[in-house]
Amino acid sequence: MKEPFLSAVPVLKQLEDAGFEAYFVGGSVRDYLLNKKISDVDIATSATPMEVKSIFSKTVDIGIEHGTVLVLTGGNSYEITTFRSEGKYEDFRRPTEVSFIRSLTEDLRRRDFTINAIAMDRTGKLADPFDGQLALKERLIQSVGNAEERFSEDALRMMRAVRFVSQLSFHIEENTQAALKELAPLLENIAVERKRAEFEKLITGRDWKAAIKIILETKIYSYLPGLNNRKAQIESLLSYDCENLTKIEMWALLIFSLKLSQQDIESFLRDWRLPVKEIKLIQKILSHLEIRLQRDWSVYDLYLAGNEVIASVEKLFLVIKGVHEPERISGLMNRYDSLPIKDSREAAVKGSDLIEWFNLSGGPWLKDTLMKIEQAILERKVLNDKQKIKEWLKECSQN
Ligand code: ATP
Ligand code: MG
Repeated sequence: MKEPFLSAVPVLKQLEDAGFEAYFVGGSVRDYLLNKKISDVDIATSATPMEVKSIFSKTVDIGIEHGTVLVLTGGNSYEITTFRSEGKYEDFRRPTEVSFIRSLTEDLRRRDFTINAIAMDRTGKLADPFDGQLALKERLIQSVGNAEERFSEDALRMMRAVRFVSQLSFHIEENTQAALKELAPLLENIAVERKRAEFEKLITGRDWKAAIKIILETKIYSYLPGLNNRKAQIESLLSYDCENLTKIEMWALLIFSLKLSQQDIESFLRDWRLPVKEIKLIQKILSHLEIRLQRDWSVYDLYLAGNEVIASVEKLFLVIKGVHEPERISGLMNRYDSLPIKDSREAAVKGSDLIEWFNLSGGPWLKDTLMKIEQAILERKVLNDKQKIKEWLKECSQN
């Protein structure tokens, strides 16, 4: 076994010493068996949330109704979830309730795909009642049990299937794929935030093109915000050759492919419930990209865009033009670094100076003049020095 499991072994031991079963489960076990980087280790136990809380001194209730308690120990935090079953025992009058159970196999049975339904004990021994290891070997995403039933219980699982295609470069098993095609309309019922989380993992996965193809084939796109009736535009995404774009850059590339107008960009991203800060950044990238597609960077463009946006815009520009010259980005970074000012606050002259010099009250002229000064400093027509700027302004007014 290796990290991060090793550090978590004492947690499993503590649960066992108290008389309960405890295992590593979910994505961490899957990624470990695939020799991939492991993000967070999830732990499943036969102990109820109350029992978990009595065993560990520092805990946080993060989802007790679903059986999850966060345990803080040894400088780490672990999500510990009680074995549970869903659906079957559900009473329609209390549809949100889950039943806590004491059987590992039953807990694994409620999980989405066989590759995600493998448990590992603290000695590294696997419990794999649904042949998840075989699916890992065959690189298959297969529902645990009947795919139609499983997707009907929780339609988000369809998005999860497709995002695993992107992240793992796996194929979807035949029956699971058929169910996907048949039941895609059920995605209508799923909260946008949940869809977005999966979609963002999808677009940043290595094999996002394969995943987008499945989204097109199964018509899943019809049930995603702003993508209904956009088949041809989504397809055009597939023509771009790109790797290592960030989540934000992928959103920008998607919007570019959809050919949205500046004012539709915001409502599209709002419909996806993106945070305002991210919406603003994507809008800024897209407006600079539009300029970049018309002309090369001027010093003023570089100044207005700033480091982060320059890099993203140039990356996208190269992708759109099909050019593989990443060194262009470092070239631009050097140009940006050598700008005489990076921010209007760095200009040696402030609005209050201009008001005093010209003996005028504020107004649109002030902003225009400050902009003119910034531009002149950037183009090195004048030094960023108060006295020099004053003289330069005088000269300008005489010409
Ligand atoms: P990641 O590496 O992105 O975290 P993951 O498979 O661990 O992938 P999580 O959302 O962290 O995904 O879920 C942890 C585990 O919980 C999954 O591996 C799966 O066993 C189970 N699970 C998650 N979502 C669902 C769902 N909608 N239906 C059934 N089981 C689920
Ligand atoms: Mg996980």
